[in-house]
Amino acid sequence: MNWQSEDEKYVWHPFTQVKTEQNPLVITHAIDATLIASDGSKYLDCNSSWWVNVHGHGNEHIADALQDQFHQIDHVIFAGVTHPKAIELAKRICEKLNNDLTKVFYSDNGSTAVEVALKMAIQYWHNQKVNRPRILALEGAYHGDTFGAMSVGERDCFNVPFEPYFFEVTYLPFPTSEMEEEILINAENLLKSREFGCLILEPLIQGSAGMRIYSISFLEKLTTIAKKYGTLVIYDEIMTAFGRTGKLFAFEHTQVQPDIICLSKGLTGGVLPLGLTVTTQSIFDAFLSEERVKAFLHGHSFTGNPLACAAACASLDLFEKEETWADIDAIGKRNAAFIVTIKLNPQVKDVRGIGTILAIELNDSESGYFSQKKEIAYHYFLENGMLLRPLGNVIFINPPYCLTEDEQQYIFDVITSFLNELNGN
Ligand code: PMP
Repeated sequence: MNWQSEDEKYVWHPFTQVKTEQNPLVITHAIDATLIASDGSKYLDCNSSWWVNVHGHGNEHIADALQDQFHQIDHVIFAGVTHPKAIELAKRICEKLNNDLTKVFYSDNGSTAVEVALKMAIQYWHNQKVNRPRILALEGAYHGDTFGAMSVGERDCFNVPFEPYFFEVTYLPFPTSEMEEEILINAENLLKSREFGCLILEPLIQGSAGMRIYSISFLEKLTTIAKKYGTLVIYDEIMTAFGRTGKLFAFEHTQVQPDIICLSKGLTGGVLPLGLTVTTQSIFDAFLSEERVKAFLHGHSFTGNPLACAAACASLDLFEKEETWADIDAIGKRNAAFIVTIKLNPQVKDVRGIGTILAIELNDSESGYFSQKKEIAYHYFLENGMLLRPLGNVIFINPPYCLTEDEQQYIFDVITSFLNELNGN
């Protein structure tokens, strides 16, 4: 079978300008942190297959859980029906959140988890007949590709055709350390109007904006101000949860908690799509009424899919093992040591890291998503056995936690030789 020509004939790929981009790689197998192509060549999965695959590919524990679940129940409607795995997962997630977030709503992916959070926040005020029409977000945000999620994200080249259909959102600038105080004063002035129904943000690090990190204290202060004026705080932890920042959830670095949290990506160990929107009893209570229209009238065919729930429970088992945290810790420490060695490289504008994420921002006259260096880097890494998809001029790794020390060193060596090549050495 000529996979590439069949693919070209029948498949439409995401985020791809088919006319100018090369044919996709055909990956037929994967094990641990390695992807294997149809011609037998191997690639390290440096970005965990779109940031989802936290435990590595082909994990036996998750495979067993899926098989067991399939023989019990594969799928069932989730309105008027429940099943043990959805209950188990919801209970375990709430126990791990270990705060006021105690009600789990199921959906299918990151974007739907965000849509649900926004709809919940909007209807929470509507049900109580309180007028709080405005929404606050951060510049540079990415929350997904559905309309609500796009509306609260950065208005950039990705969504120009759709912008006329977005709802209005107020944005705070990205909180660089010099700007923090000013932004907080501005935020308080906005929030004290009590017109804002919700604030949504990616805690501590904006993923798609280029792995941009901001301070714990800014997150704490902004959350505290929003709560002081009754604005619901939504943390989009779709990228940050499940060990990425060195803790199970990014908010665990802080002394604050959101009113709603969105989870997906690494939730199932990255093997099946699943989204969770978890909220408080008091938000849940605002939907209880004799009037049926006050219910949250939202759902998807695959809501609470038992196989996805079983994978997520198995993934949580792995997070209960000390070895997983030792791996996360080791990846972070090795990243930190590498940062020191490359930060003075003339190609490097900035280098940063948190948990298992390492990001290197290159000097480039054309920064942003369509950076020329992005293409050069992507192909250089492929030729050297690494699948690493930069975000514009930002090269980053967020690998599966089973990545070995040798594999990580290999990634560092290839990145270093790429930078040297750009330097003409
Ligand atoms: N929010 C954040 C922070 C994300 O990083 C992403 C995906 N990159 C999404 C939402 C959307 O998730 P999905 O692609 O599963 O819809």
